[in-house]
Amino acid sequence: MVNHTQITKTIALEGYGIKNAKIRYQLSSDELHDITIEKGQGVEVSSGTLAVNTGEFTGRSPQDRFIVKDDITKDKVWWGNINIPFEPNAFDKLYDKVVDYLSEKEVFVRDCYACADPNYKLNIRVINEYPWSNMFAYNMFLRPNEDELKDFSPEWTVINAPGFMADAEIDETRQHNFAILNFTKKIALIGGTGYTGEIKKGIFSALNFILPVYKNTLPMHCSANVGKDGDTAIFFGLSGTGKTTLSTDPDRSLIGDDEHGWTNENTVFNFEGGCYAKVINLSQEQEPEIFSAIKRGAILENVIADDKGDVDFSDTTITQNTRVSYPIYHIENIKVPSIGKNPKNIFFLTADAFGVLPPISKLTPNQAAYHFISGYTAKVAGTEAGVVEPVPSFSACFGAPFMPLHPTEYADMLSTKMKEAGVNVWLVNTGWTGGPYGVGTRMKLKYTRAMITAVLNGDLGVYNYDDYHLHSVFGVAQPRSCPGVPKEVLSPRTTWNDDEAYYKTAFKLSNAFRENFKKFEDNASEEIRRGGPQRYAF
Ligand code: ATP
Ligand code: MN
Repeated sequence: MVNHTQITKTIALEGYGIKNAKIRYQLSSDELHDITIEKGQGVEVSSGTLAVNTGEFTGRSPQDRFIVKDDITKDKVWWGNINIPFEPNAFDKLYDKVVDYLSEKEVFVRDCYACADPNYKLNIRVINEYPWSNMFAYNMFLRPNEDELKDFSPEWTVINAPGFMADAEIDETRQHNFAILNFTKKIALIGGTGYTGEIKKGIFSALNFILPVYKNTLPMHCSANVGKDGDTAIFFGLSGTGKTTLSTDPDRSLIGDDEHGWTNENTVFNFEGGCYAKVINLSQEQEPEIFSAIKRGAILENVIADDKGDVDFSDTTITQNTRVSYPIYHIENIKVPSIGKNPKNIFFLTADAFGVLPPISKLTPNQAAYHFISGYTAKVAGTEAGVVEPVPSFSACFGAPFMPLHPTEYADMLSTKMKEAGVNVWLVNTGWTGGPYGVGTRMKLKYTRAMITAVLNGDLGVYNYDDYHLHSVFGVAQPRSCPGVPKEVLSPRTTWNDDEAYYKTAFKLSNAFRENFKKFEDNASEEIRRGGPQRYAF
């Protein structure tokens, strides 16, 4: 039988302006699972996992993410089309409408926190319209114990009302959905979208301002794990490049799969208490740890199941971005608490759909700074009329949508820290080999894992020119051999069997790098600029 934790504490929401709500405070994961099904908002699939549809939105909506421009943010935030300003008055008006909408309703409230290092703990109260969104908060944030709950005082509040639709003309939003951060009021206000990722990335964005500005700590969009000797590795990368997949490694303890801070006390800590894995084409054979984490307590999003409740992970009817959230303890090998020492190795993951970057290469400190500011990956453009072309996608710090400050502020902090810690930095192409998307194939996960394991075991050695050769276009150092990986896979050019086509495409990418970097040139030193590709097509 389900064992429900008894929470005797009660809370009031009048202080937020939410009146006469039926408050469901701190329900257990089991209760929220059951309530979601009772309400017809989800189903239980054959693994015992709750499956929900997030509704109209199955991904974040970056164009509807705003930051209130106030005394705290006005001179610090890098305003533009990533950090879109919102007027304080307009926020207050919209806030009143949202809390009015939640009044008289049943609402699900959870007290939790972010940041596994006690020195950086951020107490959070999450107020949800839907039970499954509240269960997501249980999975993804850190869970206070009974003692911590007794005198819990929330610092930030997330108010999440997917059913509330803004009126763009009156409410000064772009359309009916919005996610707005208010640093003066310490509120993340989310409406018109049920996509749960907005909740976790809202707090992530807040921390990406708070930690560097007030706590001298570098926030990072990366995963992290630690080996038996206590050596930490971190993996930066944009969505779909392999942060979650590659950090979930049976031989290394998982610290976290997405958001971390690097302190001045030489530690790396997880912001979160759970993982949010992509499940598109997930297989038990390829990713057994993540597959096993999908059980009661986890939440599957936007997947399709058959009559028997068996999920077809290859089904993209609803979206490509099918997901599962689970508390980190669903993974067997984890670091408790989620804190590691200074990283020894940093991986920049990129899914290069042009298929021209080496599957693994070593970067100099200047190349590392250059690639961090660039934040390259590639997307595969729509299949309209059979045209499938890779499109380069650059996102500074491998996470621009979540970074309120100018990218060079994070890059400078990272450079300083990398120098102090003497880390090795590796660029890993988890994308295409043997040709671009449509011609080549995705790099075998088995090979990527072998390359990472070789680095972590010291089998790719230190920087020794005899063991590496420099890529003629990108200037990065490619290892000549790697245990568990066929030699020819290590050199992208040899996988193409067409030198001319290879270089043409490589130049296309190096030009895209140069074009993108122009906006950072004024802020980047000569050395960092030289960390870019060595050759361009004219
Ligand atoms: P997000 O920031 O959106 O959470 P992520 O960086 O965590 O993204 P993953 O969830 O790890 O990305 O997604 C990587 C996807 O690519 C997985 O579905 C994985 O199975 C697939 N994949 C295929 N080949 C590789 C490879 N060689 N290396 C890593 N992932 C691969
Ligand atoms: Mn991930």
